[in-house]
Amino acid sequence: MISITITGEKKVYSVSGNEVLGSLPLMSQEEVEQAIQKASQAQKGWAETELYKRADVLHNWADRLVEKQTQIGEMISKEVGKNRSSAVKEVVRTADLIRYTAEEGCRIHGDTLRGDSFRGGSSSKIAMVEREPLGVVLAISPFNYPVNLAASKIAPALMAGNAVVFKPASQGSLSGQLMVESLLETELPEGTVQCVTGKGSEIGNFLVTHPQINMITFTGSTATGQSISKKAKMIPVVLELGGKDPAIVLNDADLDLAAEQIVSGAFSYSGQRCTAIKRVLVDDLVADALTDKIKKKVEGLSVGAPEDDATVTPLIDTNAANFVQELIDDALQKGATLITGNTRKDNLIYPTLLDHVQPNMKVAWEEPFGPVLPIIRVKNETDFVSLANESDYGLQASIFTADVQKAMDIGAKLHVGSVQFNAKTERGPDHFPFIGAKKSGLGSQGIRRSIESMTQDKLFILNK
Ligand code: NAP
Repeated sequence: MISITITGEKKVYSVSGNEVLGSLPLMSQEEVEQAIQKASQAQKGWAETELYKRADVLHNWADRLVEKQTQIGEMISKEVGKNRSSAVKEVVRTADLIRYTAEEGCRIHGDTLRGDSFRGGSSSKIAMVEREPLGVVLAISPFNYPVNLAASKIAPALMAGNAVVFKPASQGSLSGQLMVESLLETELPEGTVQCVTGKGSEIGNFLVTHPQINMITFTGSTATGQSISKKAKMIPVVLELGGKDPAIVLNDADLDLAAEQIVSGAFSYSGQRCTAIKRVLVDDLVADALTDKIKKKVEGLSVGAPEDDATVTPLIDTNAANFVQELIDDALQKGATLITGNTRKDNLIYPTLLDHVQPNMKVAWEEPFGPVLPIIRVKNETDFVSLANESDYGLQASIFTADVQKAMDIGAKLHVGSVQFNAKTERGPDHFPFIGAKKSGLGSQGIRRSIESMTQDKLFILNK
């Protein structure tokens, strides 16, 4: 039996390190157990609650989030180092997501099947297929969107009639808890959503192997996701994991547009987005011109503190900053050209652009989750596809070209969940399906898909 040994409390500091924002309870095994039991008991009543009442709870929750957008946005900004305006936008976007989930959840119905499609005495049968909740959903979220990526799990789970055990990222837990407090202020029956806190490495195994957890929905790194999927036994698991999204730039592309989209895609929130553009594959013929345009834009990015609304802000912690620095150092040692950047102040890494990156450099393949962008020059069109597909990841890809047919042909050959044409890679709008191929994920998200993933079919068969 896996057990939890570390308990107590841990201070949560702002990303700047100057402010204690609150504390993270390191829950004991008994407390986590109690939370799961409470959720399990509450789920039965919640599953019988009419859909419109579940939807009312969600609408009420969304209203409260909008009312508290500044307070919650402020906490996100300090806790995970996101600039203020993006942090507030995250809260408002989440309210929209919750409202849409409430409405979509009211429209998820089963269907009927007739038996007479088959020979052999089945013509008298009619099957009614209903969607049933799974039970208790374990929702584990990452630090980078502590409100949005938590609510995108909790809201569909609730609309589907499940109870939720929510485990926020330790750095991000205060924002996550504020969001849950707004939910608990609604008419949601007591016990239906439980927030469990503690280090993932300490309470994670207990949670994911608990027999009363009926489904796991996880967003985070590929390493953690893979380990969870190995441990979860005979329950559905949906994973949203890392990425190494390429921007593929053909020689007929609008280079101004490509440069603008690439810089925004690669450097917003300091590159700490799963769908950030994490490498540029550019036709050699236009590589100099594109690099020049990207350089000018990168040098115009604001760098500094989240409260000053800078685009590039300190990374989540020292380990993250060290990792990005190692990738930069490795590339430069192996002969990459530094175009701009490679300046560091504590955990703040200035936006860094590297040209002539080669396949033997780690930055060509690893996910930095930080503000460094490698440019890889490509000599012929087949290399675009092979270099893009050689990655372990398969989240999204962008293709910049004026030729729609060519974009479709290349897009069809890419092993990724989504292909963007003439725009940066990004998640959303939140009702679009969101898929990670290869080591970028398992299953499909997006509001309707998420609700479906949290239900199972049940048949009632009429025999005339
Ligand atoms: P992470 O370190 O994998 O952590 C994610 C969550 O898992 C946190 O709540 C963490 O808790 C928990 N956790 C850690 N070890 C665990 C274990 N053994 N069992 C159960 N849970 C455990 O990821 P992160 O650094 O927060 O997020 C960055 C990564 O997420 C990047 O790779 C990024 O690409 C990916 N991401 C993907 C998407 C997507 O939609 N595809 C979206 C956003 C982010 P603690 O914080 O307490 O350790």
